Amino acid sequence: MTEARRLLGQVFGFPEFRPGQAEIVASVEAGRDVLAILPTGAGKSLCYQLPALTRPGVTVVISPLIALMRDQVRALRAAGVEAGALTSQTEAGEAEAIFAALDAGTLKLLYMAPERLASAGPLLRRISVGLLAVDEAHCVSQWGHDFRPDYLRIGELRAGLGVQTVALTATADAETREEIVRRLFGGAAPEIFLRGFDRPNLHLEFRPKDAPRRQILDFTAARRGRSGIVYCASRAKTETLAGALGEAGHTAIAYHAGLDGEDRRLAETRFQREDGLIVCATIAFGMGVDKPDIRYVAHTDLPKSIEAYYQEIGRAGRDGAPAETLTLYGAEDIRLRRAQIDESPAPAARKEADHKRLNALLGLAEARRCRRQTLLAYFGETLAAPCGNCDLCAERPEVFDGTEAARMAFSAALRTGESFGAEHLIAILRGERTERVLARGHDRLPTFGVGSARSKPEWQAIFRQLMGHDLIRPDPSRHGALRLTEAARPILRDEAKIELRADTLRRAAARGAARREAVALVAEEDEGLLSALKARRRQLADAAGVPAYVIFPDRTLIELATRRPATLDAMRGITGIGAVKLERFGQDFLEVIAGEAPEPLHPARRRLAGSPGGALFDRLHAAQLALARGPDGRGKPLSCDAATLARIARSRPADLAALAELPGVGALKADRFGPAFLALLQEDDGA
Ligand code: ADP
Ligand code: ZN
Repeated sequence: MTEARRLLGQVFGFPEFRPGQAEIVASVEAGRDVLAILPTGAGKSLCYQLPALTRPGVTVVISPLIALMRDQVRALRAAGVEAGALTSQTEAGEAEAIFAALDAGTLKLLYMAPERLASAGPLLRRISVGLLAVDEAHCVSQWGHDFRPDYLRIGELRAGLGVQTVALTATADAETREEIVRRLFGGAAPEIFLRGFDRPNLHLEFRPKDAPRRQILDFTAARRGRSGIVYCASRAKTETLAGALGEAGHTAIAYHAGLDGEDRRLAETRFQREDGLIVCATIAFGMGVDKPDIRYVAHTDLPKSIEAYYQEIGRAGRDGAPAETLTLYGAEDIRLRRAQIDESPAPAARKEADHKRLNALLGLAEARRCRRQTLLAYFGETLAAPCGNCDLCAERPEVFDGTEAARMAFSAALRTGESFGAEHLIAILRGERTERVLARGHDRLPTFGVGSARSKPEWQAIFRQLMGHDLIRPDPSRHGALRLTEAARPILRDEAKIELRADTLRRAAARGAARREAVALVAEEDEGLLSALKARRRQLADAAGVPAYVIFPDRTLIELATRRPATLDAMRGITGIGAVKLERFGQDFLEVIAGEAPEPLHPARRRLAGSPGGALFDRLHAAQLALARGPDGRGKPLSCDAATLARIARSRPADLAALAELPGVGALKADRFGPAFLALLQEDDGA
């Protein structure tokens, strides 16, 4: 475990484990089978990547998404880890190289697409598989939405190889878990880790729709240059919104299932590669989105359930840096989502369950206390205190006793036979003599005009909230006419009260609300540096033909801009900078921070950066400089080259004889520098 902890910093540049990772890695290191259930972005990959590095043999990773595998392999290679992927898209040359590395025993991680499994038996038996990792393990569940028939082969393969296995997923429900244990582990229970659902770095916000396009344009305008996803309910909307964003000066593209394969791949590649790109997408854009530095996810329309909402917003901020979410919703969304459920061919029990999941989301939309507390409560977790990172924590919602208004609305619906939608009911309540009202004689109802004190937008906001609390529901068999639900009865009979939000009413009346500023990623004075660092990252990524985050994710650049390390050594403590990346990219980013090129370090010294050997090297170097012409300054110039100094710092010879033995030193130099060097080495040991 100490080795794993060391590699965490050394290879990945992470100063500490994220919650859950340490326990899981320890269990894998202890040789146990593991099923880890962690939310998206928690850092599941590390749970098998670290153990892969500490054990002999190769770790085979089964993953359903080719694009994702490719990115993981790229990221691992950038960190100096030998990894490869075998998929249907692997070219012959690449496959040859992988087989050669396997035979040489140098490959540490082999990613495989599930469809490769059918033919992979002989290969896997020949090489020594040290660990089997199954990513997206819920794909084995036949009832789940991501079922992959090839995943059913894994259990057999595992049993055949008799290899330790770690399965990972973000899907937490008990049925799926049970199915994974049965199908992957043959019922022999693995150790199960189930970690919290909280994603504290995501800012949560809901807003009633008034002018959705303008609302999204405002939101993105305040976040210019940041990568984001904007989910839309229809293909057409993704296209028009991407167009509007483009006109507003953003780089935006549309993504939906109607694109042909070529366009889709192009969109995916651009999304992975380009910084600050906005993708307007339907939910077809999802699985496989692995970009860690998506800074926001916005919904122009209400998602279909609380699970879908959670999954979609979860794509933001996987690097752990601040990220934002905005979900717009309106009465029309509620009608649409209800209709989709009612019109689906699913059995009645399933429809009822779907309505419940939608209700949970609507409850969150109309929540009157901390959204995170409300969201986590749905997933069975409690958050002791309000989160301080949602719109309701920022500004306590104003509420009023809406019982009377609700009863007026219910009464209008009941007295018209529950046959009309909100528009007509509001006309009755407000006492408007519309053609339809007059034609039906609804101007003679006792409810006619009882709600004239409120404006139409206010009544619309009330109806939306009543629908959100599932007190009235559109009836699919009657063109969306509003019907009372059982929950409305006690309010109607004056046995229960209902609290409604007043602020959304007022806003509805005033059309629109003040736009919220984007969360700051860095202090204002560091903004310029952050942009410069991003530009350099862009250059390096383009030169290497990899996505920007493979060089460094936003999180790393943010820390660089804030902490402004002046030397490579100081840079070593920054999240995401491991030894190899420090050596490859450290100098480039130091230059940006310094605003000019500092004295470049010798490669031998660079490799020691951040380790205790680095400082020692510098002291040896200074001592040698002082003695270059001997103690009296008149001797023949002598020096050890940087590689030799690095060797001395690493191997720490105990005496003059051992020092003289080292390549590049010899008797003459040992004589000149030996006493000073040995004194420094001794001092360093004592430190
Ligand atoms: P998951 O598969 O659980 O959705 P990933 O494995 O893709 O998450 O990790 C999400 C992001 O978090 C990646 O960019 C990864 O490099 C980063 N990450 C993982 N572990 C740590 C850690 N201990 N410290 C900092 N960042 C981490
Ligand atoms: Zn909150």
